[in-house]
Amino acid sequence: MNEFAITIDGLEKYYGSFKALHGVDLKAKRGEILGFLGPNGAGKTTTIRCMLDLIHPQGGTISVLGLNPQAEPEAIKARVGYLPGELHLDENMTAQQIFRYFNRLRGNRSNWDYIEELSDRLKLELKTPIKNFSHGNKQKVGVVQALMHRPELVLLDEPTGGLDPLMQQEVLRMLAEAQDNGVTVFFSSHIISEVQAVADRVAVIREGKIVEVAETASLLHRSMRQVRIRFQQPTEAEELFKLPGVELIAKDDDLGVLLQVEGDMDALIKTLAKYPVNDFETERTSLEEIFLAYYEGEEDK
Ligand code: ATP
Repeated sequence: MNEFAITIDGLEKYYGSFKALHGVDLKAKRGEILGFLGPNGAGKTTTIRCMLDLIHPQGGTISVLGLNPQAEPEAIKARVGYLPGELHLDENMTAQQIFRYFNRLRGNRSNWDYIEELSDRLKLELKTPIKNFSHGNKQKVGVVQALMHRPELVLLDEPTGGLDPLMQQEVLRMLAEAQDNGVTVFFSSHIISEVQAVADRVAVIREGKIVEVAETASLLHRSMRQVRIRFQQPTEAEELFKLPGVELIAKDDDLGVLLQVEGDMDALIKTLAKYPVNDFETERTSLEEIFLAYYEGEEDK
């Protein structure tokens, strides 16, 4: 079996003369949770919609669960759970009727107890017409319909949009549990903390191109710290600034220095131990800051 649930090569998409995707290359490994991040208009929804053949790309190739979406769109839809970014539901139906309808479309493969369990966990009222639902409650209907047939792959366009923090957590738990059951999860998000919490890897898209794909843990490891040291007496500690990953940002006066440290602090602390130090403060650059740099187009940083 192919190691990848999704393989996208050189994907190009135009809307009229506007080029939305400039050769997107992306792979999702089977069984992983891949977070898809990027600023507004970067091309996340466009990429996801191409994977389901909801829109047609002008260039590149896509393989989803080993299938070509343009050749076998129905086969893909049967094996994938999809939550669109903008959900359009029949307002006169109840959630229960919608789930029954989807279940019939998918060949009655869903177990009704499982649908009730998911709905219960999200505190979703099954017998209320959708027109009486808030935006968040409609979103819950979308989440349940994406998971209820236990698909092999779920593609979720901002799954926690409009949900309150408790419900966001519940949806993230559901995604983690789906992964425990072997499901591949691909989800776009603007919430970096949730990507950090559940995603094994992160792909960042900007202006229709992938600018980073990395393990979430390695991104965290790569995050920088700023370290401010205050010596007890004027000190020339040049060797500190030559340590791998350490950069001198500023000297305050004879006594103080500000350093930037990438990776772990072991070498710095051991070297510093020989000097009389008055004070030592450290502050970590958050994952958020790393991504903001990508969002602002400063990936070289
Ligand atoms: P967001 O985070 O705001 O949901 P996104 O990353 O999902 O953004 P897309 O919706 O894929 O971005 O849009 C990518 C680009 O294509 C944007 O510049 C958008 O304006 C443009 N676009 C999307 N759909 C259409 C369309 N139907 N017609 C014309 N341009 C479109």
